[in-house]
Amino acid sequence: MSTPVIEFRRVGLTYPGPPPVTALQPCDLSVAPGDYLTVTGPSGSGKSTFLNLVGLLDTPTTGRYLLDGIDTSALPDGDRTALRGRRIGFVFQSFHLLPHRSAAENVALALLYTASRGRRGAAERRERARAALVQVGLGHRLDALPTRLSGGERQRVAIARALVGRPSLLLCDEPTGNLDSTTAESVLALLDDLHAEGLTVLLITHDPQVAARGRRTVAIRDGVLREVAAA
Ligand code: ADP
Repeated sequence: MSTPVIEFRRVGLTYPGPPPVTALQPCDLSVAPGDYLTVTGPSGSGKSTFLNLVGLLDTPTTGRYLLDGIDTSALPDGDRTALRGRRIGFVFQSFHLLPHRSAAENVALALLYTASRGRRGAAERRERARAALVQVGLGHRLDALPTRLSGGERQRVAIARALVGRPSLLLCDEPTGNLDSTTAESVLALLDDLHAEGLTVLLITHDPQVAARGRRTVAIRDGVLREVAAA
């Protein structure tokens, strides 16, 4: 069996307070390469806490988290940051694109700290950005500024930016939260396609219809995570 992308072993998080708040009760979770997991729950249930843990933006107060088999619990901050940069592509509700840079530049910038430097590095970054934008269906909009793109196209650029570093995991936080229903559907269809191509996707949403797109769904309620459905 292949190494899970995500493996939680009794991972939990209690904010120290006062008073202390257990935002995530100790839980086990395993996400295999190529899986598509959705995480759902109402506001205040612990979704952001879970996202921060999976995304290596926060450390558990109990348990161990293995990312691609690497035990992240004991890593120094610099190593965690490097691991996050190489292995996790983030997609948020807001697109966070630089307004005065083209779509291709926005995507290429994500490689600045990981790809090789110098003139060869710049050419490689440009080519990889182009390929990532082609992958999300924006091969014809490489030079467009974000202000000239629709909301759905901006989110595609953000997805291309998340993919360009060839991460093990695409971590999406309410990726359709700012989009109308038709545009949201096209972004969800893109995630379906990327999953079909073998990408591991984890999507966090409060919307049960969006959550239903996953191959597996876990629900968080009052900090308790449990699996609710597997296709
Ligand atoms: P969600 O993303 O589902 O809205 P959160 O993970 O943000 O939920 O919050 C889960 C619980 O943890 C809530 O009760 C929230 O008030 C609490 N919480 C979140 N962040 C902190 C913090 N930094 N300190 C203390 N409590 C927090």
